[in-house]
Amino acid sequence: MNKITDNISIVLPVFNEEAGILDTIDVLENFITNQLPRYELIFVDDGSQDTSAQLIQQAQENYDNIRLVQFSRNFGHQLAITAGIRYATGDAVVVMDADLQDPPAVIPEMIDKWHDGYDVVYGKRLSRDGESWFKKVTAKAFYRILHAMTSVDMPVDTGDFRLMDKKVIAELKTMDETEPFVRGMVSWVGFKQTDVSYERQERNAGVTKYPLKKMLRLATDGLTSFSDLPLKLTNWLGGLAIAIGFGYGLVSLFTGFSTLQFAVTAMFLLTGLIMVSLGIIGVYLYRMFESSRQRPLYIVARTTGFPSNRAVTPRQATMAFQQPTLQRHAN
Ligand code: UDP
Ligand code: MG
Repeated sequence: MNKITDNISIVLPVFNEEAGILDTIDVLENFITNQLPRYELIFVDDGSQDTSAQLIQQAQENYDNIRLVQFSRNFGHQLAITAGIRYATGDAVVVMDADLQDPPAVIPEMIDKWHDGYDVVYGKRLSRDGESWFKKVTAKAFYRILHAMTSVDMPVDTGDFRLMDKKVIAELKTMDETEPFVRGMVSWVGFKQTDVSYERQERNAGVTKYPLKKMLRLATDGLTSFSDLPLKLTNWLGGLAIAIGFGYGLVSLFTGFSTLQFAVTAMFLLTGLIMVSLGIIGVYLYRMFESSRQRPLYIVARTTGFPSNRAVTPRQATMAFQQPTLQRHAN
């Protein structure tokens, strides 16, 4: 592929980033000026309640490579990435945080590996600056549990910072998962994948938009969309409970009947087991329910800064079977 004619789309999800967004734009635009490929920046405003969108629109007056997709409300980081990818038309697409935690200097390395023939080049975090020990420990544990539990080979310590060839993007665009776990989907797609290592930086401004609740949600989505182990676990636990009950029954045949204390303990244990099992089944059931509803994945309120000749298909706008009324807003 010819370096000079490459088009690169950079997708940046944005949620309440007014404190640092202009700095991010400046740094990226400066970085881009010294590079050979042609870049566009696709910001997906995930329902920010601050002035992030206005600031991006202001910047559009100075730079003609800034696109903005605005959601009608906060749909979450993973859906913001999904939308950005659907609007991207580059030969390669880079996904990165809007807070400069993913250093732009890594992008040329990714592009080099892409030119070497790799279709996905993901950033592997060597260290994480300025993040709480809680976040570091939970993130480390999460990536390892996920890796152990899933049949898809997902790299550890890897977030969504990555470069993907347009053929990978084409596959992602066909996936209408209601609660997407994008990095898992990218692993699932396959093709030639490799990594580049980098030091994760501190945020340029503001605080994390990933409170514990959103982290837990991401972890659940990752596990339930790529592993049936929790469901199987339910069976094993049930089997274990039956075995214990059976063993206990046998023992009591010889030693007389149980004490009240034992009965109470057993009751708690078994009730707990049943509730956990039901809970796990419920999570999967809810996912089925979510996807059977066929709601659009997200709603785009408006887009600005796209070239007028860029066709936006219904799937790019929201999802495959989407009402024509929403398409109108998409360009
Ligand atoms: N983000 C988003 N929607 C959300 C939460 C976060 O689009 O509901 C964006 C956020 O603005 C940032 C990226 O996703 O660009 C990653 O979030 P954050 O930096 O807060 O996560 P962390 O780096 O702390 O894990
Ligand atoms: Mg961040």
